[in-house]
Amino acid sequence: MPRTKIIASIGPSSSTQDILLRMIREGVNLIRINYAHAVREQREKFIRLIRSIEEKYELVLPIIGDLQGPSIRTGEHKAFQILKGELIKIVNADKTSECKTIPLPNSKVYSILEEEDLIIIGAGVLRLRVVDVKSDRVECTALNDAFLSPRKTFILPYKDLPLPVITDKDLDDIEFSIKNKIDYLALSFVRTREDVKTLKDILRDKGGEEIGVIAKVETRKAVENIDYILNEADAIIVARGDLGMYFSLEEIPRLQEYLVRKARMKARPAIVATQLLESMINSPYPTRSEVVDIMVAVHQGVDALLLAGETAAGKYPIEAVKWLKRIVAEAEKVTSIMKSEEVLGEDIYMKFARGVVLLADALNAKILVYTKRGNTARRISRFRPRAPVYVITNNPRVMRKLKLLWGVRSFLASTSDIWKALDELARMLKNEGELSYGDIVVSTGGLREGATDLIRVHVYE
Ligand code: PGA
Ligand code: MN
Repeated sequence: MPRTKIIASIGPSSSTQDILLRMIREGVNLIRINYAHAVREQREKFIRLIRSIEEKYELVLPIIGDLQGPSIRTGEHKAFQILKGELIKIVNADKTSECKTIPLPNSKVYSILEEEDLIIIGAGVLRLRVVDVKSDRVECTALNDAFLSPRKTFILPYKDLPLPVITDKDLDDIEFSIKNKIDYLALSFVRTREDVKTLKDILRDKGGEEIGVIAKVETRKAVENIDYILNEADAIIVARGDLGMYFSLEEIPRLQEYLVRKARMKARPAIVATQLLESMINSPYPTRSEVVDIMVAVHQGVDALLLAGETAAGKYPIEAVKWLKRIVAEAEKVTSIMKSEEVLGEDIYMKFARGVVLLADALNAKILVYTKRGNTARRISRFRPRAPVYVITNNPRVMRKLKLLWGVRSFLASTSDIWKALDELARMLKNEGELSYGDIVVSTGGLREGATDLIRVHVYE
């Protein structure tokens, strides 16, 4: 079984029981629902389907809800052709029929725009340079030819849009997520640690503190503030789609490498997303370059890879998962496990985890972990042990969230007694044929909140 986890987005292409179940059988570990697309009835249907598969086949399928976050879109207009060098107007209106004019209904934007600002519309379709600013309209020069359709995303790569990180739509979606016991919420267009904290505070106020928070790193500010964001978020997504709007495309490899490294230094799971198998939206085979891209990500030490359009809207959702698993399995074979020892602000617990993994590797031992809130498991996984990591907890919500961690298989304990839980885990593993007579076992667990201070080595009999 590959140790790098696979996340698949659910959508029209993957919302029948047959297809979803086959995707899961092919190796999907977690499921993402993109709240920017799926309307309420649709996502309720997705969740019902996921829950029914969980129940029927005794599976655990953690769900990541992906909040749209502070993004703005252009308004209604007829699609029109733009030529490089042309003068284009942007006006503060919901719609317009004016020639060569784009409506952008958001009064705040006009107060922060300045001459020379760069604007990107529609995921890179159109780039504009601002030449003149009025209180409710700006004039720009088109930097490229484009055919522009309405309702496209609007980005200022070098400026922050003056928008709250959580919109009213997001608030609704957060409540929906709490009600439906979603496992993780991903937050789009994060800029600072405060943004992440805002979501966590809302979750706490509304009784959703058990939902894990994932920061999507896509803006320039998020890259600048990555160390602080990693102190607050439970995981990050290297969201290469929007990252490629805020930065130049050729900067993405360096940014991905940097962000994954930073996450690992802080023992936070890193997920790489967007265009992993883009060509498979229309083709049953990946391209050579996609195969290489996935290999590189695995080699960099990502915890999980996220399929988006490939499984949500593509023609070959099952094949995409199959190929991703095949490539990951090969990458894990040919690239020796990424054993980065680099740690930022190493505390006693991180040192302890490093020691546990070192010992287990030296003894060729299997690692059994008891974890209360998942911290011990997260630190052990971070040092990428050679042998499987089996984790047990008596909190069902924690057990589900642990499925995101690299190389971790998680189980639910019927007791909060650490020794009894570890014995329970050993019994379960024996029944599954994962543990047998003569195996060396390193067990570890936390006795106090946040801490890890127990280790036992024994031969299983
Ligand atoms: P999105 O985020 O697809 O939700 O916009 C992913 C990305 O930007 O890569
Ligand atoms: Mn995005």
